[in-house]
Amino acid sequence: MDAQFFTAWIEEVARAVGANRDHLTRLDAAIGDADHGSNLDRGFTAVREALSATPGDTPGAVLTLTGTTLIRKVGGASGPLYGTAFRQMGKVLGSGADVSLTDLASALEAALAGVRRLGGAAEGDKTMVDALAPASRALTAAVQDGMKAEEALDAARAAAEQGARATIPLQARKGRASYLGERSIGHQDPGAASTALILTALHAAAGG
Ligand code: ADP
Ligand code: MG
Repeated sequence: MDAQFFTAWIEEVARAVGANRDHLTRLDAAIGDADHGSNLDRGFTAVREALSATPGDTPGAVLTLTGTTLIRKVGGASGPLYGTAFRQMGKVLGSGADVSLTDLASALEAALAGVRRLGGAAEGDKTMVDALAPASRALTAAVQDGMKAEEALDAARAAAEQGARATIPLQARKGRASYLGERSIGHQDPGAASTALILTALHAAAGG
């Protein structure tokens, strides 16, 4: 997987975030402050511009620029968290021109570790971690089982979607939604939903 693959992934994320902007904002209206869709749309629009101005010539460069731009452009909790996730992926992928599925699985593990370190959320706290952690586990397991990229990334996508849906009955323990206490129960976490979109876009970039 080369810089072109990772650029196609990020462009698909930007498209999906734009198409789901109102949906993400509605989820955030229920348990937050109704800005998750607009935050991410602003962020990924800026990322698209940054990548067209300075196309990354390695996977690491593409993801590092993505992360740095998100941190710069997205206020709120999700900007620094997603920014860190993409920057950690970029760091793990380093300066190689072509990376393997095993490298990508390691990069996703680093993304999760970065989000956990910065946000302090564990699984079950009703955050993006509830989609990212199962996706990372699924990808690592798929690589160990010798699956091909399309199939492995489909498993990661499915795990993220299931994880996002599983946030509905949870009570939020981190972020703005936690201020609602028990009233956060019964709504899907917006950040878990956007993480599922990001993993769906990754599968799409692999031809899924
Ligand atoms: P804000 O909450 O500042 O308005 P957003 O609406 O863009 O920011 O993002 C909210 C999402 O961020 C939540 O749905 C949740 O998934 C994620 N989030 C918030 N706090 C944390 C945290 N401490 N750790 C992990 N994810 C978090
Ligand atoms: Mg919000």
